[in-house]
Amino acid sequence: MNNITIIGIGLIGSSLARAIKNHNPNVMINIVDSSNENLKKSQNLSLANKYNIEINKEVEESEVIFICTPISAYENIFKDLSKFDLNKSIITDVGSSKVEVINLAKKFLNNKIFVPGHPIAGTEKSGPENGFKELFKNKWFISTTCELCDESHIKVVNDIWKSIGSKIETMNSKDHDSIMAITSHIPHLIAYNIVGTASELEDDIKSEVIKFSASGFRDFTRIASSDPTMWRDIMLSNKTEIISLLEKFNNDLSKTLDAIKNNDGKFLFDKFKKTKEIREKIIEAGLDKN
Ligand code: NAP
Repeated sequence: MNNITIIGIGLIGSSLARAIKNHNPNVMINIVDSSNENLKKSQNLSLANKYNIEINKEVEESEVIFICTPISAYENIFKDLSKFDLNKSIITDVGSSKVEVINLAKKFLNNKIFVPGHPIAGTEKSGPENGFKELFKNKWFISTTCELCDESHIKVVNDIWKSIGSKIETMNSKDHDSIMAITSHIPHLIAYNIVGTASELEDDIKSEVIKFSASGFRDFTRIASSDPTMWRDIMLSNKTEIISLLEKFNNDLSKTLDAIKNNDGKFLFDKFKKTKEIREKIIEAGLDKN
């Protein structure tokens, strides 16, 4: 690989630029970002060879084009990319939901090659200054199948992520969205809601909440400090899976509420015992650390 474009040089795009440059110092990196400030920061960090505020003809030289922006920017990016001759290029992305992204790509990318992708790695921080080259090391990268690519295109993208240390899995987009809804999207939604409820408590209680936050609440505040644009886009672009699982979650929560109201200690004990076993399985699999 000699030439790539990264559109969106935030946490994920800048980490990818750093990791790819580290693995292959000769690769030409073209960065496109709509934020002048982030382009300037990237230039100061020497993340690339070229810096552009919008997509231009230079993109045609890239073998792989990575879209690393919030999902709400995709429609315009796809429309812009569709104007160029990208016969020799693979377009891929890192967005956290896939079914909706593929529908958009089919609508706007006119016969171009698109490999949907999602690294299961990140932090609650944003921007190029917060990226780092080890972000994807030993983390999963999931590519998903779709009508705009074949196995050989998926292999090219998978191999790039493998070269920077990721573990690879390929699945269909519906399974991806359903797994992400329960393991990532709904936990974030719960964190946003708990912290939101706490912030609406009377002012004097709020200061005590902050004082005693070490008892579990602190972890929710970290998750709930994640970028609002990115998470708004994820909730809306994976709404089918999120709504269906959230309805199930509400139902389970109501049963727990009833158990507390009815002093049903057996129900609570059995439920907590079962969830403790899931944690033990995660530890057994060595997945309990970042
Ligand atoms: P980020 O740090 O906010 O960076 C996004 C960058 O894209 C910003 O520089 C943003 O500029 C720029 N941008 C926005 N619209 C654009 C457009 N139309 N054209 C070019 N650049 C544009 O976001 P991130 O955390 O890297 O997330 C990027 C993507 O990765 C999201 O789709 C997210 O779902 C996915 N992802 C994130 C994580 C995570 O933990 N962060 C993990 C896995 C996947 P402005 O700042 O001016 O908007």
